[in-house]
Amino acid sequence: MSQRRPLIAGNWKMNCLRTDGLALARGLSDRAKAKGDLACDILVCPPATLISDVAGVTAKSAVKVGGQDCHVAVSGAHTGDIAAPMLADIGATHVLVGHSERRADHGESSTVIRQKTMATHDAGLIAVVCVGETEQERDLGATLAVVNGQIAVSVPDEATAENTVIAYEPVWAIGTGRTASVDEVAEVHAAIRAGLTARFDDGDKFRILYGGSVKPSNAAELLSVPDVDGALVGGASLKVDDFWKIIESCA
Ligand code: PEP
Repeated sequence: MSQRRPLIAGNWKMNCLRTDGLALARGLSDRAKAKGDLACDILVCPPATLISDVAGVTAKSAVKVGGQDCHVAVSGAHTGDIAAPMLADIGATHVLVGHSERRADHGESSTVIRQKTMATHDAGLIAVVCVGETEQERDLGATLAVVNGQIAVSVPDEATAENTVIAYEPVWAIGTGRTASVDEVAEVHAAIRAGLTARFDDGDKFRILYGGSVKPSNAAELLSVPDVDGALVGGASLKVDDFWKIIESCA
């Protein structure tokens, strides 16, 4: 584990009605309170419908709450969208931006993601900027170029380690049960770190999360890779026991 405090973040995606979501939030919040001294920061990103309620449930615990996306603007005629200040207003502290499912399903470019990152910062929130190569890009040997290219555009020049977290998520490993090998993760995280250090004064302080089928059985190994400063977890974040085991892998 690095000298940076790890962050274990759960992306609930489009899952959980109110009863299940609140039970999940309560379970995590109760465990966090009982544990007291935690070895990592904890973040959950519920669907927008649950952010306010989840923030209420977790308020007195170490569990932070984030949005899964935001609009680039602060308000206006954008039916169905949510602005970063609205997320802040209901208790969010973080926003996931540029998740590969947003890039694929909504055609979000790295340019738009930079604007969303800036909107997140302007609202006083922390952006978790997601990057990662497709299987085809990896097969072509383009992984490092793709990932560093996405970061170069998606992360604005004024970003700091305080307001920005990078999440490396190989697209082929998300929700597939396949995980990048320790060597693959180490190579990409080292390249991301080198790029951040070259570009930002505090580049060595940015947290770089790994995401892609992280589960209790592989979390400790992945979290022990140099420059892996936590995990972004999808499926396994929907079960209190599994997510908690991943959190405890940081100890
Ligand atoms: C994700 O949604 O960011 C993710 C990594 O999902 P999973 O853990 O299910 O692969």
